[in-house]
Amino acid sequence: MTTAPLNLLDLPARFRNPALDEPVSSSWPAPRAAAGRPSGELVDSFGRRIEDLRISITDRCNFRCTYCMPEEGLKWLTSDRVLTYPEIVRLARIAVDLGIREVRLTGGEPTLRPGLADLVGELSELPRLASLSLTTNGFLLTKLAGPLAAAGLTRINVSLDSLQHEKFHQITRRPALDKVLAGLEELENHPSISPIKINAVAMRHFSEDEVVAFAKLARRKPYVVRWIEFMPLDADGNWERDRVLTGGEIKEIIERQFMPLVPVPSQDPSSTSNRWRFADGLGEIGFINPVSEPFCGTCNRIRLTADGQIRTCLFSVEEYDLRAPMRAGATDHELADIFHNAVANKEKKHKINEGEQFQRASRSMSQIGG
Ligand code: SAM
Ligand code: SF4
Repeated sequence: MTTAPLNLLDLPARFRNPALDEPVSSSWPAPRAAAGRPSGELVDSFGRRIEDLRISITDRCNFRCTYCMPEEGLKWLTSDRVLTYPEIVRLARIAVDLGIREVRLTGGEPTLRPGLADLVGELSELPRLASLSLTTNGFLLTKLAGPLAAAGLTRINVSLDSLQHEKFHQITRRPALDKVLAGLEELENHPSISPIKINAVAMRHFSEDEVVAFAKLARRKPYVVRWIEFMPLDADGNWERDRVLTGGEIKEIIERQFMPLVPVPSQDPSSTSNRWRFADGLGEIGFINPVSEPFCGTCNRIRLTADGQIRTCLFSVEEYDLRAPMRAGATDHELADIFHNAVANKEKKHKINEGEQFQRASRSMSQIGG
């Protein structure tokens, strides 16, 4: 696998981080050979089968969304702490042997990492992996959509919270709406990446006057628009319950302005979103309501942070280290044991709605990988 540097030339200099232009070293100790492949499905102590792995490949970002990161950014991981691509591929392969069927690459902003398409190419060859997807802010998609499609990416989520230039700038602290919309258009030229989903974080006193424009977009374009409730995962710690605009409230606005929405039956019991179609059949809207309608009971997800820690819940306060044992020469079976142990201890549910019981996660969203 090569680590060809990504052409960041169209990224304005003030968005660039010089450290990201450096190829990441892959010179860690080679794994010890182990007999046979790891096996044994990942089932937690509540009987939930874990089939979805979110892999963060960087904690850095070129945006500063107010609900996620402070204006000045965060203390970034040093490159020696970040998993190399060969390390990520190895852990993903072990996870797939343990029953993971869906891998989603995220960050930080995953498109900032040089050679992303190479990583996608490697992962897409894992047998038994049913879905390989990416969550991105969309800024670099005009350049990357083609290479990612060619490399085997099958699904994508583009985060976009406002269709108004001023408000987009206000929320992301970057004047980049047109660039993101152009990236979405470019995706339309690559139908092997499907569906194209837009994720918008819903915040009271911000999102209400976006709802109609996003609904029109979902009816005019081949994009599935999904509203996500604002969660207490912002690095600034400014989340307040009053700022959560619920999926139910947004659905009411849409139905008042347009027509009834009819439910789209889900094929996937672990899906985070409930899906709706406009009654005339034109356009789909989804709602991800982790605050007003928690879906922890059917959660099938775990996360791997950019520095190689397993997190079993967005709101985890504990992590399980894969990086140190891997770099010390652990076998695939030993690493599989760490996956099993983490999953055995997966939290039953988040406690956002349990007042004093709620404890903030040990890291914020961009450091976890949403
Ligand atoms: N940078 C990429 C992006 O924005 O799509 C990937 C990483 S970002 C952390 C993943 C998702 O988390 C995005 O859809 C973002 O909107 C969402 N997110 C970040 N902070 C959030 C919060 N406090 N509540 C709800 N969603 C949040
Ligand atoms: Fe960056 Fe994504 Fe967080 Fe926005 S939500 S600051 S794009 S990581």
